[in-house]
Amino acid sequence: MVLDFSSATAHLKQYASKDGLDIKSLVDSKNFGGLTYNDFLVLPGLIQFASSNVSLEAKLTKKITLKSPFISAPMDTVTEENMAIHMALLGGIGIIHHNCSPDEQAEMVRRVKKYENGFISDPVVISPEVSVREVKQMKATMGFTSFPVTDTGKVGGKLVGIVTLRDVQFQDNLDISVSEVMTSDLITGKKGITLSEGNQLLRSSKKGKLPIVDGKGNLVSMISLTDLQKNQTYPLASKSFDSKQLLCGASIGTMDADRGRLEKLVDAGLDVVVIDSSNGSSVFQINMLKWIKSKYPDLQVIAGNVVTRDQAALLIEAGADALKIGMGSGSICITQEVMACGRPQGTAVYNVSEFANQFGIPCIADGGIGNIGHITKALALGASCVMMGGLLAGTAETPGLYFYRDGQRLKSYRGMGSIDAMQQTGTSANASSSRYFSESDKVFVAQGVAGAVVDKGSITTFIPYLYNGLQHSLQDIGIQSIEDLRTKVDSGEVRFEFRTTSAQLEGGVHGLHSYEKRLHN
Ligand code: NAD
Ligand code: ATP
Ligand code: IMP
Repeated sequence: MVLDFSSATAHLKQYASKDGLDIKSLVDSKNFGGLTYNDFLVLPGLIQFASSNVSLEAKLTKKITLKSPFISAPMDTVTEENMAIHMALLGGIGIIHHNCSPDEQAEMVRRVKKYENGFISDPVVISPEVSVREVKQMKATMGFTSFPVTDTGKVGGKLVGIVTLRDVQFQDNLDISVSEVMTSDLITGKKGITLSEGNQLLRSSKKGKLPIVDGKGNLVSMISLTDLQKNQTYPLASKSFDSKQLLCGASIGTMDADRGRLEKLVDAGLDVVVIDSSNGSSVFQINMLKWIKSKYPDLQVIAGNVVTRDQAALLIEAGADALKIGMGSGSICITQEVMACGRPQGTAVYNVSEFANQFGIPCIADGGIGNIGHITKALALGASCVMMGGLLAGTAETPGLYFYRDGQRLKSYRGMGSIDAMQQTGTSANASSSRYFSESDKVFVAQGVAGAVVDKGSITTFIPYLYNGLQHSLQDIGIQSIEDLRTKVDSGEVRFEFRTTSAQLEGGVHGLHSYEKRLHN
C-alpha cells in the first residue's frame, strides 16, 4: 500500500507500530533477572503544556493527599523536627525516627505540630517569676523567644504580659524575673475572632504576636505574624484540613513497648505512623497493625517494608492504609549481601504497586532514589510517593553538625541497622539496641553502614529542585499529573525501553577530560 504523507499526523500514526515496551512486558521479560531504576528508560511523549502545569499531587495514604510526592526517611541522620517541618512546608512530609526515647520523639512531633498554624492552640507560656536566664535557655532549646506570661504559667491562666526577644536580649542581669522586663500593655484578640481578623489586628498594631483571650482575660491561644508570612511563602504546605497545623509522621517498631510509644506520639498530634521494619510480613507487624487500627481507627498507618504480592496481601488484610516498598535497595544497605534476602527495587515497586493499587492502597517506593530520574521511574512503576534517605542526607535540615574531611564539607549518614546506630547510647527506652539485641543475641548483625555525604545546602532549595525537575521529566513523557501517569502507563500509552550496559554509559557524561556536575543554581 502507498501511504499518503500529505494527510494529517493522526492519520499517519495509525500505521505506525508502537516503539518500546508496555510496563508489563518490561518487568516480565524472561531474559531479565530483576529490574532496577538504571535498567530502563521511559520513551518521550507529546508535550502539550508548560512544565509548571504538571501537578505532582500524590496520595500518601488512603486518606492523606500531598501536593508533592516526597517523604524523608525515619533515620536518625535524616529526619528530626527541623527536617519534618521543612518537608511539610515544601509540600511533602517527614517521618521522625524512633532511635530515641518515646518522650523525645513525641516532643519532636509536638514541635512540628506547633510550628506553623493559624492559631497556636497550645503556646509555651511562662509565669511572671521565671528569670531572664531561664527565658534565654528556653530560646536555646525551643527555638522561639516570645512567651505569653500568665499568672499560673499555663494556658488558661490570666494573661499578664508577653516577653519577646527584644525584652531580654540586652538584659545583663539574668537573675531578674520576667515581670520586670515584660510588656504588660497588650494588644489582644477576643476568643472567636477569625484568622483574617487576627491578621488585620497584627498588621494595624505592627506587633509580631497576638495573644487570644476569653471574656475574663484568660489566655486561650496565640497568633504569630511569622506564621502568616510563612503561609504565603509555602503555598504547597502539607497541613491538617481543620487545624491548619503541618502534617507530621513518625516511625515505631513492633515491640510491645512501641504501643506505649505510639500513645505518646498520638497525644502529641501525630497524623501518620510508619511501622518501620526491613521485612513487614511478620506476625509482630500484623499484630501491631491490627492493634493500632482498633485503638486509633482514624490514625493513618503505613506498613512495610514489602517486596512481594504475598507480603503486601498480609498487610493490606491487616488494615494498612499504605505500603512501603523496598528491601535491600537503600544506599547504606547491606541487607541483600548479608541476609540473601530482598528484591531489585524496580521489580519490587511494580509487583507490589500493581497488586496494592487494585485495593486502593497507595505505595511508597523506599530506598535507592539517587536522582530525579529515579523518582519518575518509581512513579511510572506504580508508586505514588518516594521515600528518601541518602538524597536528603547532608542538607542543613538533617540532624548533626557538618565536618571537614579531605577539603570537603560533610555530614554523617548511617543506616538504622548499622553498628553505630544500634549502639546509639540513649535512654533505657531507646529503640536501637532493643530492636536488634533480643536476650538470646550475643552479637549485633549489621544490615547497614555508617558513612558521610557532602553538604547539599538547604532543602528549601533542594526540594524545589526535585519538584521542578520532576515536572520537567513528566512533561517530557507527555504527562500532566501523577494520576495521568498511572492511567497512561496502565493503558500502554507510556512506553519503556531497556538500557544495555553500553546504553547506560552513553546516557551518562562521557568523553570529557574533566567536568563539574552542578545540579541546580
Ligand atoms: P525489626 O524491628 O523489624 O526487626 C528486628 C528484629 O526484632 C527481628 O529479628 C524481628 O523479628 C524482631 N522483633 C520485632 N518485633 C518483635 C517482637 N514483638 N517480639 C520479638 N521479636 C521481635 O527491624 P529491622 O527489620 O531489623 O530494621 C531495623 C531498621 O533498619 C529499620 O529502621 C529499617 O527500616 C532499617 N532497615 C531497612 C531495610 C530495608 O531494606 N528497607 C533493611 C534493613 C534495615
Ligand atoms: P520573635 O522573633 O518575634 O521573638 P519568636 O522567635 O518567638 O518571635 P516566631 O519567629 O514568631 O517566634 O515564631 C517561630 C515559631 O514558633 C512559629 O511557628 C510560632 O508559631 C512558634 N511560637 C512562637 N512563640 C511561641 C510560643 N510561646 N509557644 C508556642 N509556639 C510559639
Ligand atoms: P536511601 O534513600 O537509598 O538512602 O535509602 C533509605 C532507606 O534505606 C530507608 O528509608 C530504609 O528503608 C532503608 N534503611 C535504613 N537503614 C537501613 C539499614 O541499616 N540497612 C538497610 N536499609 C536501611
